[in-house]
Amino acid sequence: MLVALNVNDFLDRAATVYPQRVAIVDDPSAAAPLGELTYSNFESRARGMALHLEEMGVGQGDRVAIVSPNAAKFMISYFGVSGYGRVLVPVNYRLTSEEVQYIVDHSGASVVLVDPEIAEPLASLRAPRKIILDGVDDAELFAPAAPGHQPRVGTFDENATASINYTSGTTARPKGVQLTHRNCWINAALFGWHTTVGEREVFLHTLPMFHCNGWGMPYAVTAMGAKQVVQRKIDGEQILERIDRHGVTLMCGAPAVVAAVLDAGSARRDRGVDTPGRDRVRIVVAGAPPPSKIIERVGTELGWEFIQIYGLTETSPLLTVNRARAEWDELDAAERAQLLSRAGVPALGVRIATNDDGEVLAQSNHVFAGYWEQPEESEKALGDGWFHTGDGGYVTGDSYLVISDRKKDVIITGGENVSSIEVEDCLYQHPGVAEVAVIGVPDDRWGETIKALVVPRPGVAVDEDDLIAFCRERMAHFKCPTSVEMRESLIRTATGKLQKFKLRAPYWEGRDRLVSGG
Ligand code: AMP
Repeated sequence: MLVALNVNDFLDRAATVYPQRVAIVDDPSAAAPLGELTYSNFESRARGMALHLEEMGVGQGDRVAIVSPNAAKFMISYFGVSGYGRVLVPVNYRLTSEEVQYIVDHSGASVVLVDPEIAEPLASLRAPRKIILDGVDDAELFAPAAPGHQPRVGTFDENATASINYTSGTTARPKGVQLTHRNCWINAALFGWHTTVGEREVFLHTLPMFHCNGWGMPYAVTAMGAKQVVQRKIDGEQILERIDRHGVTLMCGAPAVVAAVLDAGSARRDRGVDTPGRDRVRIVVAGAPPPSKIIERVGTELGWEFIQIYGLTETSPLLTVNRARAEWDELDAAERAQLLSRAGVPALGVRIATNDDGEVLAQSNHVFAGYWEQPEESEKALGDGWFHTGDGGYVTGDSYLVISDRKKDVIITGGENVSSIEVEDCLYQHPGVAEVAVIGVPDDRWGETIKALVVPRPGVAVDEDDLIAFCRERMAHFKCPTSVEMRESLIRTATGKLQKFKLRAPYWEGRDRLVSGG
C-alpha cells in the first residue's frame, strides 16, 4: 500500500491523540497573539484557514507567502496552507520591501500574510491579496472551522511542493527551494528520531520559522504532541526565563543564539541567580561550526546537551548529526566538545561524499525537488545525481563530516546566508566604487561578518561610512558590510577572475577551518 505522505499527518495525529493538550503558547508580545491553543483548536484553525483560502478562490498549488517573525499563526499556516494542497512561501521578515517584492513576484504568490510589526515598511508591497495579521484583517482566516467541515483537496501527491523557501546562494537573487511533502515528512521523522523528540517534549521556537520551515522541527514536535512555546525575538534572558517558566526541554538555533544564551547565563551568575534546564535541555545547533570552547561551556555552565547538525535549505535540511555517543561518556568536557565541533555522521538514509575538489555532495530522500522556475540552477545543483552543497569538507576515519571551507560565494552571518554577489552588485551602484570584492571574515558574535574590499574610483570622494550607509538604504541590514577597506587593486587570476580565497586568507590566518560560528 502506498499512502501519500502529507505534512498534515503530523497535526492530524496530535489532534487525534492529544486533542486537549496545550499545543502552542503564543508570544504575548505579538500584535494579536492567540494565547494558548490546544491541539484540537490548532487543527480546527488550520482547517479553517484552508476553508477560507478556498472561499477566497486560492486554488490547489497556489502560493501563499508569509512574512512574519515566529508566531502561532505561522505554525497554523504550515498546515492550513501546505497541508491542504497549497504552497507556503515563508519569507525572511528582515528583508527590505523590494527584496520581499522579488520573492512575492518570483513565486507568483496570490496571497501575502504580513505581521503588523512590518506592515509599515512593507506598505508599498504589491500582491493580489495582502492580509495583515492584526486580528482584524485576518480574523476569518484564522477562525476555527466547525467540526467535520472539510476543505476540498484533490488527489494528493506526496511529491507535490509543500513549501518554497527562498535562500541566498550563488546568484545575485535568492533562489526558491521547492520542498515536497515527502521531503518535509522524511526530514521531520529523521530529525525527530535522531534528537529523540518525544511526547513529553516542551519545545521553544527560537529558530526562525521562515528558515527552512524551522529546519522541519515544528513538524516533528507537532507529530509527538509536544507543547510549543513561541519566541519572536532572540533575547538571551527572555529565552532563559521561558525555559524556566515552561519547563522547556528542546530548542534549535544558530551559534549566535548559543552565544546570547551563554551571555545571559553569565549575567545571571554574576547576580547570583541560577540558570534553568540543567540536565534537561537539549540545544540543536547548525549554520556554522561553533568553536569547541562554546560547546564546552554549554555543558559546563548550563548543563545542557549540545547537538550539532549540518544541512542546507535544499536538503530540508538534515544531512548529518553529531550527538555525544556512549563511547564518549568517560571523556572530559573539553575532549567531548572537541568531538562535537564536527558537523556529524550521516543521518539515516543520507549518503555523503566529497569530490576531487573537496566539495561535499549528498544524496537522500529529503533532498529538494529543484529551484522554483530555475531549471538551469536545478540542473547545476542536482544534475549528476548528487546534490552539490557548495561546502568544502572531509570525512574523518570514524565517518564524521567536517566542514572546513566554503566553495560557494556565500557568507553566513548570524545563521543567515548572504550572497557576496548581491552585496557586490549593490556596492557597484555607488559612483565612488571602481572595483569591489565582498568576503566573510571571522567574528566572535556573528560567526562571520561581511567585509567589502573596495578600489575607489579616482576623483570621487568616498569613505567607509558612506558605503555602509549606501548599502543599508538598499538591502536588509544583515546583508550589509560591517567594514570596508580601501585597496589600490584586488588580486585576480590571469583571466581576470577575483581570487576570493586569497583575499580572505589573511583574515583567517591561524585557523584550521575557513568557516566560523563565532
Ligand atoms: P541554509 O540553507 O541557509 O540553511 O544554509 C546552509 C549552509 O549553512 C550550508 O551550506 C553550510 O555552509 C552552512 N552550515 C549549516 N550547518 C553547518 C554546520 N554544522 N557546520 C558548518 N556549516 C554549516
